[in-house]
Amino acid sequence: MTYLLRHGLLVGPDAVRVADVLVREGRIAEVGDTLDAPAGATVIDVEGCWVGPGFVDLHSHLREPGREAAENIESGARAGAVGGYCALVAMPNTEPALDNVALVSYVLDKGARTPLDVAVAGAITQGREGRHLAPLAEMAALGVRLFTDDGTGVQDPSLMRRALDYARPLGVRLAQHCEDEALAARGSMNEGVLSSRLGLVGRPALAEELMVMRDIELVRLTGAAMHFLHLSTARSLALVSAARRDGLDVTCEVTPHHLTLDETACAGFDAHFKVHPPLRGADDVSALRRSLRDGLFDAVATDHAPHAPELKDRAFDEAPAGMLGLEHAGALTYEALGSEQCDPVTFFAVLSRGPARVAQLRASDRRVRHSAHGGALVAGEDANLTVFDPRSEWTARRDQLQSRARNTPYDGRPLRGRVTTTIAKGQLVVHEGKLQ
Ligand SMILES: [Zn+2]
Repeated sequence: MTYLLRHGLLVGPDAVRVADVLVREGRIAEVGDTLDAPAGATVIDVEGCWVGPGFVDLHSHLREPGREAAENIESGARAGAVGGYCALVAMPNTEPALDNVALVSYVLDKGARTPLDVAVAGAITQGREGRHLAPLAEMAALGVRLFTDDGTGVQDPSLMRRALDYARPLGVRLAQHCEDEALAARGSMNEGVLSSRLGLVGRPALAEELMVMRDIELVRLTGAAMHFLHLSTARSLALVSAARRDGLDVTCEVTPHHLTLDETACAGFDAHFKVHPPLRGADDVSALRRSLRDGLFDAVATDHAPHAPELKDRAFDEAPAGMLGLEHAGALTYEALGSEQCDPVTFFAVLSRGPARVAQLRASDRRVRHSAHGGALVAGEDANLTVFDPRSEWTARRDQLQSRARNTPYDGRPLRGRVTTTIAKGQLVVHEGKLQ
């Protein structure tokens, strides 16, 4: 298939310019000022829109195997495509957990049958139980580049140290869900004045920060690489900044919801606002936004966490934590970056180039059959492209989601900026905002 994207604002790694992009046989064939449309090409007018490398999500809970009532790999990929994603990293807290070669292969095979690239994060410990290391080397040989017990963090520091020692020579990165369970246990929202007033047990900021502190020191000790998932407090950001100044290889992500919602959303006891780590206070949200603009975060990652409706209808303290993310992340990141003030280079840095680097998806890999992501938009690259219209105004609607689940906290929220076109693996997957 041949596509010509006409007159978009091309967003490169450092600069933008208006240009046409010709996509042919799965690759960017040509980039130029005004290209002639070859016979049979589909011409897509993208004037006034941003054209960048396809979004990459580091943090998608696709729920397969085990909880397909909430989501499966195919429906998760559909939700990702309408959100502008060309690659998803599937998290391993499935049932059973993705802690061995057979299960990782199962997800990779199913992912390869979707229009997107689906990579896998393997579990660090067997069954994500935090007791015995999973076979990291065997999974790494299949192309797994990220490992995490996400859902919970690895609590035992000696086990985490050993995992880092194993990870380093494999060239893979461990990703930590930073919450000290002893401190956070049974809490269902941010600990503070509001949680006391509502009579809910809180999860203190310190539960996250202690884990960040500990793991930074383990990285210093082992020389391995670490990725911090969904950071949510100002103090966590200060710790990561200092570690980077010391030259440690630590990367980090922030979610759209921690950037755009705060703890006051929990005051109505609506479990759609329950998430781990919890929504924080307004000062933390401001600090996250500032750090996003300043380039501290390698990625905005969705923590897309589908749940069956009957589970989210439970009382706040009994409902499972987590919210949907893939379909609104582009607009929410645009908002967090200041809407009209949003710099398109930063926008695609955190939604595509940064996460592609962390997940090691920047080069194509034939072993696991994924194409290259987060590129510079030059001729010869694999065609993974997202078109974002910053002028679009729309409203998030729970009943219009592609996800199987319905647990978005944004139902009815006005949004600015929308993905209009997704070209993934060289195919037009989303056109005029609709799945093809
Ligand atoms: Zn997590």
